[in-house]
Amino acid sequence: MNSVITIDGPSGAGKSTVSRRLANVLEFRYIDSGALYRIAALEVMDRHIEEPSDEILAEICRNLDVVFSNGKEQNRIFSHNKDVTEMIRSPEISMLASQLSARPVTRECLTSLQRGMADNMNIVLEGRDAGTVVFPDALVKFFLDASPEERGKRRFKELSLKGSSVSLEQVTQEIIKRDQNDTSRQFAPLRPAADALIIDSTTMSIDEVVDRMIQEIKLKKIEGV
Ligand code: C5P
Repeated sequence: MNSVITIDGPSGAGKSTVSRRLANVLEFRYIDSGALYRIAALEVMDRHIEEPSDEILAEICRNLDVVFSNGKEQNRIFSHNKDVTEMIRSPEISMLASQLSARPVTRECLTSLQRGMADNMNIVLEGRDAGTVVFPDALVKFFLDASPEERGKRRFKELSLKGSSVSLEQVTQEIIKRDQNDTSRQFAPLRPAADALIIDSTTMSIDEVVDRMIQEIKLKKIEGV
């Protein structure tokens, strides 16, 4: 039996950094489900489709060809053999991914893709509905949160380091808007699973969060961990 650890939470809560570290420590495979939604959005944008129909969205999602190349500090993401790591992080793609993710056709398709990716592997899956919908039976579930101000600051720092000129105000507003989209959508809204451990990371360092998670995982006595 493979082990699944899910980490859900709002944008900018530090899920990616923490999930990657945890996967490294446990020697599990890390899956960034947000990247799948982002790559679907990139495809829609590249094709210049204003309002994709369900048929087009299904076609795009079914034909995604994504490869995660997991490194210690950085992961690269390839779509149809093209490195899209940076491209999928733009604010336009973030917003479009959030809009498309509210469509049942997108969710259905990308949920089965995630389940397939986990086949027979121990995984750390990061997302919005990983513990509620994709793997409701996951062994350990976390919900990582932080205040919107703190999340805005973290995302702003990340984008600034990459040379982006967006303001802190813009980044924080975008995060709040995406929170609204993600929590209010009808299908698989962002919320903690009833059995998830909620961690508020507002005043915690990455190491503190990872240590807290490992503590929790040890309690579950996962084989090989
Ligand atoms: O996690 P990330 O910010 O990369 O995700 C981009 C968007 O994709 C989110 O705002 C959310 O709308 C959507 N998403 C989702 N379900 C997931 C992962 C991401 O709806 N499991």
